[in-house]
Amino acid sequence: MCGIIGIYSNKNIAKELYYGLYSIQHRGQESCGIAVVNDGKIKAIRQMGLVGDVFKEKEIDYLSGNIGIGHVRYSTAGGSVIQNCQPFVGTCRKRNLGLAHNGNLVNANYLKEMLEEDGLMFQTNSDTEVILNILSRYYKGDIVQSIKLTMDYIKGAYSLVIFSDNELVAVRDPHGFRPLIMGKKDDEYIFASENCAIDILGGEVIRDVEPGEIIVIKNGEMKSYNYSEHYKPVMRSCIFEHVYFARNDATIDNLNAYEFRIKCGEKLAESDDVKPDLVVPVPDSGWPGALGYSNASGIRVSEALVKNRYVGRTFIKPTQEEREIGVKIKLNPLKSMLKDKSIVLVDDSIVRGTTSRRLVQALREAGAREIHLRVTSPPVAYSCFYGIDTPNRENLLASNHNVEKMREHIGCDSLKFIDIDTMIEAAGGENKFCKACFDGDYAVKLYDMQSN
Ligand code: SF4
Repeated sequence: MCGIIGIYSNKNIAKELYYGLYSIQHRGQESCGIAVVNDGKIKAIRQMGLVGDVFKEKEIDYLSGNIGIGHVRYSTAGGSVIQNCQPFVGTCRKRNLGLAHNGNLVNANYLKEMLEEDGLMFQTNSDTEVILNILSRYYKGDIVQSIKLTMDYIKGAYSLVIFSDNELVAVRDPHGFRPLIMGKKDDEYIFASENCAIDILGGEVIRDVEPGEIIVIKNGEMKSYNYSEHYKPVMRSCIFEHVYFARNDATIDNLNAYEFRIKCGEKLAESDDVKPDLVVPVPDSGWPGALGYSNASGIRVSEALVKNRYVGRTFIKPTQEEREIGVKIKLNPLKSMLKDKSIVLVDDSIVRGTTSRRLVQALREAGAREIHLRVTSPPVAYSCFYGIDTPNRENLLASNHNVEKMREHIGCDSLKFIDIDTMIEAAGGENKFCKACFDGDYAVKLYDMQSN
């Protein structure tokens, strides 16, 4: 997962890029970067670490410019090393280019081999460098044409913000896997992975960038182009953004994450037959589902798991060892609330099952009599190749366990998931979502890898 932002203005936007990037920090905590172009010169700072730690006053002063892009990264392709930090920038035929990418190409290895055969050298193992290299090959001044030609090659998930010397460009792949929102503040244009970046800058959200759309801001004007006249985009917006990744205040492709999460909780309660004393959310992302469950069942919600606010998301930490430690220090049960109680524990998803198993064990030790785990997404049984870090199917609990085996593994008294159709109903019922991690139906062929 990554988050991107791009701003075009007639004034210095370094601080706005910083604040905008800060607001989408939840989308990646490994590294961050900002690049601006000013009077034909690129200035960029990229570092491992969090936005607030990397960018201080000195860095913000250095990054003065009126066109710029930013990136927060959690690696899905390429290692967690400084060379892979984005944005990527470069100069070709005396023209500047900068690019930040959220997503994952499914044919990056193939393209890289092809380009290396041609004598091109790569400095990183990131798929974003592949995109920039193809783009710079074609870029001779016409950015739209060169992006279209690049899109003929690259397959998979990509939301991009790109700058040249005098333009800011936003691109969303023809399936719209990853989000990209356009906003405006006075004469300024803002593109970001989530609307919170636009909101906090005092801008107005205009709309989502459409699948297969290329939007160019130049000379203060916005122009929209389609990738191809011959190719009809098929929207496959990632449902997992709404299940887990996006902030509660995110509205992506006209669906608000918070409302969706509440609805999923309500739907779970409507078809449930247990009568617990309490509904307990797994903080933070289980909260809306628990509220929904409580709304529909009339059973009160209790904050019986207390979260250490200074620990990151365990699911998106890079190594298993870090994840294990993260779970231990992240959540502590409130014994006085739990003693002899039957509870419905509500979580947004079960991926590896590590967190759920440890939580159930901790809740029992704290005195809970019965624990009924309810999950507001279906079992994650397939890997994502479109930009979410679930690369090995064997690590997904649902890939090799049925629900009863999962229940045994986790150690709860009962386990229920929302089913795919009900989840899509809660999302408005349209057939516009990617849900491949639940049903294995991959919209773009997996060129480089097998859907193992
Ligand atoms: S496979 Fe799952 S996580 Fe990946 S894009 Fe599709 S819905 Fe999102």
